[in-house]
Amino acid sequence: MKFFLNSISAVVVVTLAAGLVLGFIFGLTLPLLVSSQSERVVSYEEVAAQTAVEEAAKIAVEMGTDSAEYGLAFETLPGVAKYDGPALARSMSIDTKEAWLSWMRNNRNDSPAFLEERWKLAEDFVESSELKRPEDMRAFLLTPREHFVRDRNRGLEYADTWLPIGYGATITDPDVVAMMTTTLAINSGEKVLEIGTGSGYQSAILSYLTTEVYTIEIIKPLFIETDRLYRDLEKSYPSYGSINRKLGDGYYGWEKYAPFEKIIVTCAIDHIPPPLLKQLSPGGIMVLPLGPPGRQYIMEVKKEEAPDGSITLNRRDVYNGLRVSFIPFRDEIGTSHSLSGPEFPNSP
Ligand code: SAH
Repeated sequence: MKFFLNSISAVVVVTLAAGLVLGFIFGLTLPLLVSSQSERVVSYEEVAAQTAVEEAAKIAVEMGTDSAEYGLAFETLPGVAKYDGPALARSMSIDTKEAWLSWMRNNRNDSPAFLEERWKLAEDFVESSELKRPEDMRAFLLTPREHFVRDRNRGLEYADTWLPIGYGATITDPDVVAMMTTTLAINSGEKVLEIGTGSGYQSAILSYLTTEVYTIEIIKPLFIETDRLYRDLEKSYPSYGSINRKLGDGYYGWEKYAPFEKIIVTCAIDHIPPPLLKQLSPGGIMVLPLGPPGRQYIMEVKKEEAPDGSITLNRRDVYNGLRVSFIPFRDEIGTSHSLSGPEFPNSP
């Protein structure tokens, strides 16, 4: 009995002691655990991306915008009326799929199977908020991706993925195209500059949002191929005849037509090209894949300019941390315009 009582008191003592020790440890560590969970972990790369954005604002004030042009260009003629793509988009019925299909049958020759797939993607992107405004949905619905996906990828026209288009370039995933387009919030008549014409798909979408589309491609055979494609398609899709396009290094923008209310960069870079920031109107929006090779954030950058010329940039990661992989923003000899090489820029 005595032994039994002793063992009980030993168990009680040990339990109490263990409780005290554990309580003490948890008392100390629990707040630490909670606070480290609730603190937002800011990675070095995010800090570097922020620095890259701020640096660009400083440099843009001083830097010139000498444009690197390589001689080939198509520019709409001054004084010649441009086909009004946004007006066409506004006239389209999108209340129901049936109404849209019937409008398309009356106004277009697009293949019915592709129309079904296009509607499905548009619906998905409206649901995921990658197409936020009806204008953006209309522009997406009017653009025949099947003509911009190259022959080697037949069957994948409406797959939600990027695809190779030759010359080391790609046609961007339709959802990323939708998201970047929606982020620009384009109003009809605004000047929009795209860097990286590639397949021509992105600018074709833009041509239903504004008549003022400008696009630059650096790879000559790709520029020529897409220029020809636009000329062919123009007969059935006249707004592509209003797309101004040139062969050149988009890092320097297109000074002749600056400023632009909206700029979309479709090749990856680890900083904002200062000449582009300079050519962005005050109050304008730029969207670009910002980050190291293989993993960029889709960044929205809004530019505010004070009367003394100082620039404030408000940036937002439109996908909340999700990474994408665009092909590199290169110069004319094929070297990346990124400052960092394989690692992130501005390493201490
Ligand atoms: N917007 C295109 C995406 C093409 S991929 C589409 O919808 O298909 C990116 C493109 O950027 C490639 O065609 C590449 O050649 C181009 N590019 C890369 N660096 C460039 C630069 N400095 N100036 C202009 N275009 C560039």
